Amino acid sequence: MPENPGMTVSTIEPATEPVPASAPNATPTVAFVSLGCPKALTDSELILTQLSAEGYATSKQYAGADLVVVNTCGFIDDAVKESLDTIGEALAANGRVIVTGCLGAKAGEGGGNLVQQVHPKVLAVTGPHATQEVMDAVHRHVPRPHDPFMDLVPSIGIKLTPRHYAYLKISEGCNHRCTFCIIPSMRGDLVSRPVGDVLADARALFESGVKELLVISQDTSAYGVDVKYRTGFFDGQPVKTRVLDLCTRLADLAAPHGAWVRLHYVYPYPHVDDILPLMAEGRVLPYLDVPFQHAHPDVLKRMKRPASGERNLERLARWREICPELVVRSTFIAGFPGETEAEFETLLDFVREAQIDRAGCFAYSPVQGAAANELPGQLPQEVREERRARFMAVAEKVSVAKLQRRVGVTMQVLVDQAPALGRKGGVGRTYADAPEIDGQVRLLPPEKASKTFKVGEFTRARIVAAEGHDLVALPI
Ligand code: SF4
Repeated sequence: MPENPGMTVSTIEPATEPVPASAPNATPTVAFVSLGCPKALTDSELILTQLSAEGYATSKQYAGADLVVVNTCGFIDDAVKESLDTIGEALAANGRVIVTGCLGAKAGEGGGNLVQQVHPKVLAVTGPHATQEVMDAVHRHVPRPHDPFMDLVPSIGIKLTPRHYAYLKISEGCNHRCTFCIIPSMRGDLVSRPVGDVLADARALFESGVKELLVISQDTSAYGVDVKYRTGFFDGQPVKTRVLDLCTRLADLAAPHGAWVRLHYVYPYPHVDDILPLMAEGRVLPYLDVPFQHAHPDVLKRMKRPASGERNLERLARWREICPELVVRSTFIAGFPGETEAEFETLLDFVREAQIDRAGCFAYSPVQGAAANELPGQLPQEVREERRARFMAVAEKVSVAKLQRRVGVTMQVLVDQAPALGRKGGVGRTYADAPEIDGQVRLLPPEKASKTFKVGEFTRARIVAAEGHDLVALPI
């Protein structure tokens, strides 16, 4: 039993008829009703604190309020009835109502949302622990009051990337313990951000003009493991904290803006197969950044890599079967402690067979505090560097051959640089290249005088040459 499941924390005196909103220029006012247990109370406190921090006035009266927020309880029948009655009362008295809390997460008959079934006029419904979603709903219906300091900051916050692409962090920390890495000791175990917050950030980024969203974390495929794939809320709809559900909703948000969604740091777990159809349909970019680090099972074991027992070649083949356009980028470590020449050769064979489109390689170097420092068989620096160079020679051969096959193909290019509307040419990227880490497309000046292209826009271009890691293309 929850503590005091139906406890009424604050009540409101109902008005007899719908009340007018505050006068223009008056401080926007939100009436708040908090029902339920102490956990719901702390949610109410968080929302009230945020409302006050943003300059809204809060009230216990429906009269004069621009909006009512009802934080509900849904545990026992009496609490459900009390919550539904309160919502009805608020609708009758004020008309503009947002519902949050446990009852917001409850399904009604046929699987829909109970609150929306009983009170279809509510403006938005969220589940519990959803401060950001409640605030997003409040912002949509009662714009934030002007703040002379905060209003200098764009709604998406301060970004260090160009305006047309942005990184979206979905979690912090990591549950793995790779022996060469100290991230878990610095940042702790995996903590997934609430899916509603992640999606709200994504929407704000797309609305601000972002054309490419780069999903990042330490282990994107593990998103939600820490919260047991808990159901969160976005726009009043339930969404599981799980990478497939996240990708599906991100694709929905990106579509009206014609924007790209690109996934980084995905491990080759079997459930990643489920994301490939989204890529085949063009809803998420057919690009996966999979940090394999090595291919020999014994080295992977010494590295304590996640998914080291997976059959990676088979998995890649399966992915390409579902989505032939798939581009795979990866990073590797050469000269890991104890790596034999034979183990290193296995790595080279893997890169050839796996046809890794873009590969980076580091010569192993010890990091202070990492467990790998204690492993036997530390290799001399020259051996590590020499293996790195050999690896890169093989990887480049694979990559360049794959790029050559693109010559003659017409591709969509996102423009990163374009002096004077692109009439003198410019620089961009196709879906196959992530910013800063992969190659580029050098855009030639368009042949037609009428054809121009601008930074942050897409242009179609015919690939006319491959130069090393880059392509050359003519806008058409
Ligand atoms: S290298 Fe391993 S331990 Fe470090 S962040 Fe990546 S998966 Fe986690």
